[in-house]
Amino acid sequence: MKWALIGASTIASQWMIDAIRAGGGAEVAAVLSSDTARGKDYAARHDIASAHTDLDKMLADPEIGAVYISTTNEKHHPQAMAAIAAGKHVLCEKPLAITLAEAHEMVAAAKQAGVVFATNHHLRNAGSHLTIRDLIANGHIGTVQAVRVAHAVYLPANLQGWRIDNAAAGGGVIPDIVVHDADTVRFHLGEDPAEVVAIERSESMGQGVEDSVMSVWRMRSGALVETHEGFTIRHAGTSFEVHGTEGSIIARNVMTQQPVGEVYLRRDGKDEAVPFSDHNLYNRAVGLFMDAVAGKGSPAASGDDGIKSLAVALAVKEAATTGRRVPVDYGEA
Ligand code: NDP
Repeated sequence: MKWALIGASTIASQWMIDAIRAGGGAEVAAVLSSDTARGKDYAARHDIASAHTDLDKMLADPEIGAVYISTTNEKHHPQAMAAIAAGKHVLCEKPLAITLAEAHEMVAAAKQAGVVFATNHHLRNAGSHLTIRDLIANGHIGTVQAVRVAHAVYLPANLQGWRIDNAAAGGGVIPDIVVHDADTVRFHLGEDPAEVVAIERSESMGQGVEDSVMSVWRMRSGALVETHEGFTIRHAGTSFEVHGTEGSIIARNVMTQQPVGEVYLRRDGKDEAVPFSDHNLYNRAVGLFMDAVAGKGSPAASGDDGIKSLAVALAVKEAATTGRRVPVDYGEA
């Protein structure tokens, strides 16, 4: 199958072009950029046959079966709607859109058109997280009482662009990282956050957008979740902890793009290291997407998963800006 990249992005160059090519039988045939020279240069550097600046012309190629959208966040909605209208399968970056209504419209349009639509939440593809989910599902820690997510990092210099100064493009740490944490918590607990409280700040990097946030969520079961997301925290490392009535799961360095980290199961005062697969997260996501296009199974994270992670992030933003406790509004199904 031939793919087109919508967006000459860093994430595509670092991970997704290789992931699309990894399965064999898939070709990255075209790239769309808003800038002719950047698009041509990107295509040349990544061995992509054609570079475009006109989305409709690129989508008019009947040989293109799927698109990967990784532009800035405000562009995801119009570009996905155009791709769906052209009958293409869509793998879209998070957050799916700026508003919940837009995200619902994208997912509904894909369903109507009969094309596969997926959200690129990479973490649920990690061997570490697949193992954590199995430990919880198999009852190793009993009933989940609480989750703690530490996902505050230092944003690399090459990504300190629209993320730190362009609210209209979807900048800020809440759209960037809270969506991943919401998806990961939902993946593990198999339920949705019901309400949130949050405090944000713009400490040193954010210009008109938040660069740090801490929030507390109550899940529908009553379990509590605390999360910390940041662009300015150099030395913390990441972690994901799930605490249950019979034990705890302590995972370190697992909120990352790399297939790394450590997972421990703590019961009866003892920590047991739990092994997990070190496969590439993005290759797995693309592989499951391609299988779904071929009629086998479902993508790792669906469009509905993308709607829900966005809904949680929007609730966290509202709670942080109003100081109120905010019920998560998932909108119309
Ligand atoms: P980039 O900033 O690298 O790319 C976004 C857009 O910025 C591109 O589409 C491009 O526009 C434009 N751009 C790129 N380079 C330049 C430049 N030198 N000068 C001016 N404009 C430029 O973004 P990311 O790759 O970091 O993120 C893209 C999307 O992917 C976002 O939605 C983000 O949330 C998501 N993402 C997801 C990750 C995941 O693991 N799931 C990880 C990282 C990002 P044009 O296409 O018009 O040339």
